[in-house]
Amino acid sequence: MASDEYHRRTLITRLTLRSDEDEQLLLDTIEEWLDGCNIASGLAWNECHTKSDVRQLAKQQIKQKTKLGDQHATLTCHEVAGAIKSCIERRKTGKKASQPQFTSRSMTFDRRTLTVFPEQEKITLTTLGDHSRVHATLCLPEDESGYQYEYLDSDEWEYTESTLHYRDGDWYIHLGYRTPKDDEPEAATENGTVLGVDLGVNRIAVTSTARFFDAGELNHYRRECEKTRGTLQQSGTQSAHRTIESLSGREERYVKHVLHTVANGIIEEALEHDCVGIVFEELDGIREDLPEAAWHSEWAFRKLKDFVEYKAEFEGLFVDTTSPRNTSKRCNECGFTHDDNRHAGQFECQSCGKSNHADYNAAKNVAELYLRRGHQPSGRRSVSQYALKSGARTPS
Ligand SMILES: [Zn+2]
Repeated sequence: MASDEYHRRTLITRLTLRSDEDEQLLLDTIEEWLDGCNIASGLAWNECHTKSDVRQLAKQQIKQKTKLGDQHATLTCHEVAGAIKSCIERRKTGKKASQPQFTSRSMTFDRRTLTVFPEQEKITLTTLGDHSRVHATLCLPEDESGYQYEYLDSDEWEYTESTLHYRDGDWYIHLGYRTPKDDEPEAATENGTVLGVDLGVNRIAVTSTARFFDAGELNHYRRECEKTRGTLQQSGTQSAHRTIESLSGREERYVKHVLHTVANGIIEEALEHDCVGIVFEELDGIREDLPEAAWHSEWAFRKLKDFVEYKAEFEGLFVDTTSPRNTSKRCNECGFTHDDNRHAGQFECQSCGKSNHADYNAAKNVAELYLRRGHQPSGRRSVSQYALKSGARTPS
């Protein structure tokens, strides 16, 4: 949904921390955050300004050079994208704008990195590393008449994101809340947009917006595990058998971790492109298209889809599927469908001559064929177009 479909309010209050250690941890987190923002700003300035572009350019470096966890690193990129965008706006009006520098002690949190507990009048914030959380108490007015309670205790207002500020030894939190505008939700969903996702062996997932999730590292890891298992099996001892079991446990955890990251990326992509839903291929037909060695991929695809469904529900997105028939053979540009269009990773249309990455072509077809086949999500929403790298396409 676009941002103007919501009323937005900010709840501002001071915070009390539980200990000096927690305070130090938060201060350290802010320092790393500022470093992260400045790294991204240096890389992206004069290069790009969309969230996804800044992320692709800077996130890895931020993770290498700072102690920020994955989600904080993502948020620094988004912060910088916003800052660069405002610079561009300023320049349009003839004002000067130079590369954003981040120095004031404040940082942004989202629903993954900051949780609100209204009843306890408390929040928890993710600090360095993704799992160490600091608890803080909201210093709300004594009498229950403070405006803050209107949002905190409400079912209508939902918490979205927030900024933490440190000023003169005091902590303040600005909690962002939103509620849909009453008169518009029906109209807003008339031309709902979906995100198409193609699943594959070499790229775990590719979206119709051209975001690629590579499977190289995952496949390498699995091959290594397979080799080790082979060697252990030959030895045939009791201890070898136990080692195989623990190896399999570790492998499964690693694969799940990777799949969670991919699922988060798909959700991000859908939200950034204002999609109301995500479309996959039905997995039942997919097996025929997979090489023998990739039998395990079916399990991974199912898991990935489960993770996406779980996270999508939280974000209010629907997840649906369409038949995989023709998704990889059809030219997304002209519609010509033929076996010879696809050669391994490359797609070249035998009719119009357009060539493209095969999985990207397929991702667009997943969404296009979903709409052409007349699928609609259940409930009040209706969809008519799918998201591309920039803009959206409505199948005629
Ligand atoms: Zn074509």
